[in-house]
Order: sequence, then C-alpha cells, then structure tokens
Amino acid sequence: MAQNRIYNFNPGPAALPLEVLAQIRQDFLSYADSGMSITEISHRSRWFDEIINDAVARTKRLLGLGDDYHVLFIQGGASLQFCMLPMNLLGAGDRADYVNTGTWSTKAIAEARILGRHIDVVASSEDRGFAYIPEQIAFNSGAVFAHITSNNTIKGTQFAEFPDTDGVPLAADMSSDIMSRPFDVQKFGIIYAGAQKNIGPAGVCMVIIRADFLERVPEALPSMLKYTTYAAKNSLYNTPPCFAIYSVQLVLKWLEETIGGLERMAAINAEKAQILYGCIERSGFYRATAEPGSRSRMNVTFRLPDEDLEARFVKEALAAGFGGLKGHRSVGGCRASIYNATGVDAVKALTAFMEEFERTYG
Ligand SMILES: *Cc1c(COP(=O)(O)O)cnc(C)c1O
Repeated sequence: MAQNRIYNFNPGPAALPLEVLAQIRQDFLSYADSGMSITEISHRSRWFDEIINDAVARTKRLLGLGDDYHVLFIQGGASLQFCMLPMNLLGAGDRADYVNTGTWSTKAIAEARILGRHIDVVASSEDRGFAYIPEQIAFNSGAVFAHITSNNTIKGTQFAEFPDTDGVPLAADMSSDIMSRPFDVQKFGIIYAGAQKNIGPAGVCMVIIRADFLERVPEALPSMLKYTTYAAKNSLYNTPPCFAIYSVQLVLKWLEETIGGLERMAAINAEKAQILYGCIERSGFYRATAEPGSRSRMNVTFRLPDEDLEARFVKEALAAGFGGLKGHRSVGGCRASIYNATGVDAVKALTAFMEEFERTYG
C-alpha cells in the first residue's frame, strides 16, 4: 500500500498516519459487524454512537479535560468559528481582546467586526510581517475572552507558551497545532480546530467549550449557529460529518495507543523541528522567515536566495518524492508542514534532499 506514497508536507488537508488510512480502507467496505461501509451507516446507529463517544472521551483524556468542558463537532471549518464564536459569546456591551499574529487572526478579527461586536486588538506582529509572536501583552481585565491563534500556519510562528491574561479566559484557534503538545486547558474558555491539519480529514471542526461559556449563548440565534444546540445533542442535532468524525476518532486512538499521548507527541515534534531548523541554520542558502523564539514546530517557513531557485526547489523536491513544499500563495517562499503524522524519517529524508540541493545550486 505504501509503495507509491510520497513524503507529504502539505499544510492542510495534510498527512494522516498510515495505519489510520489502512484502517479506513478496511472499514470503507464493511465497518465492524455492520455489513455496511463506514460511509453507509446511520448517524443514529449504535456504531456511530460508539464512534462519537469514543472521540469525545479520547479528546478529554488526551487534553486532561474535566466534566466542565464540552467537546463538539461542527461543520463549516475554523472559518465559521471566526463568526460563530463572537456571535455566541459576546452580547451588547461585552468586549473581547484579540491578538493579531497573521492571516487567520486577521480574518477572525474582521469577522467579529462584521458582527459589530466591541473588540480590541491588544497586540499585533504586523509591523515585522508577522514574523514573531508578541510578548508582554496588556489584556483588558473586563474582556470576556482573549483570542489568539496558537500556531500561524502561513507565517510559520507559534506561541511557545500561552500569554498570561490575568484571569481573562483564552479563546484559541488551534487549527494547526491541536494535539501536538500538552498544555494547561484551565486557561481556556474555548478552543477550536479545523480537523484537516493535525487530527483528521477536512469536513469537521472540533470545538472545546467550557460550561460557563455555554451560558453566554443567546436564545435568539438560529439553531445551527448555537453552541448549545451541539452541546445538548452530543453534536447529533442534524446529520454530522460522520466520516470526518470517524477519522478523527481513529487519529486520536493512534495518538493515545501508538504514540503514547501528548508528552511523547511533543517530544517527537520537537525533534523534527530541531532537525529541520538545524539544517536551515547550518546552511548559508536557506533562510528561516520566522524569528528565533517564535518559530513554529508545525509549519517551517523558509526562503532560498531567489524565487527561481524556490520554484526549482519545489519542483525537484516533488520529483524526488517530497510534496507540499510551496509556501502559501500570499507569502511565497517554501514551507514544510510537519504535523503529528509526518514522521522523523520524513524530516530526515527532506533535510538530506535539502543539503543535496544546496550542494548543487548553492
Ligand atoms: C487552515 C486554518 C484555518 C481555516 O480553516 P478552515 O477549516 O479552512 O476554515 C483557520 N485557522 C488556522 C490557524 C488554520 O491553519
């Protein structure tokens, strides 16, 4: 099965663990004792009940979530959360803080403003092209939440530690680094993550919300846009994206049982990042775009001496079996996304290719 697979450095949808794909292949014709494909079973069946309950239970165990947190599965991607979050949590007279660290934060801010909510951008790294994570941020003590993007997929930066908000609950877009490391969930009122970067295929967004935040949800919102609808019905108010949720469950199982949890995952991710940034630092040819101290362990962004060489690099890399290395169209350059499912072996093979490319063209 694996023979014709490339090393996949796609930013999202992204690589999935091979053993998860093998399980999906098996379940695609007949799931468990159902005699039906995983795509053919009812979302009201006992099989799907077990799948979604297991996905929630594993999420809670992996992140150490108490009973005061709800795990929801919602369609519309992380992009829907940009508006759903302020819609649900900010009433008239409320205010919230936002930290702007790149393209996705900028969009989250814009969507909250479309709704006419009172939000303050309390810090931004736009002055240096979003190449760093702001520190020593002064949050407003009266804010309902403080919104951050934990990992900036396009700019290649990441919060190494979460800011001290002086008690204001954090709200985080963790689309591109959820489940990549352990962290203190108590600081967070709400976390959301599109599955297609680190925990599954496209089609579902995981939302983790604290019970007291659910109390803020206004009655006068359409059912499908209310967090309370999903919380009351275990994300089964209407037909959910069954296949995506099932796949997320398999990835979480892999994280727990094959990897051995988030401490272990974080150590592997640190090793991968160290190998790749080390290769870039040693060379006079590649140049990391994110500032030291702010560099992402998930998306490694770098430039070559000129754009022609960058185009050649991406092309020759693909021919050699390394896919997805083109930078986001808005910033150019190169980017290697090294999410959970991309192994140390893939990163070592990539750095060997990079060194060879430098010897040829450097
Ligand atoms: C990819 C990404 C998004 C957008 O996700 P969609 O599911 O396509 O809406 C938002 N935020 C971050 C940090 C991302 O990486």
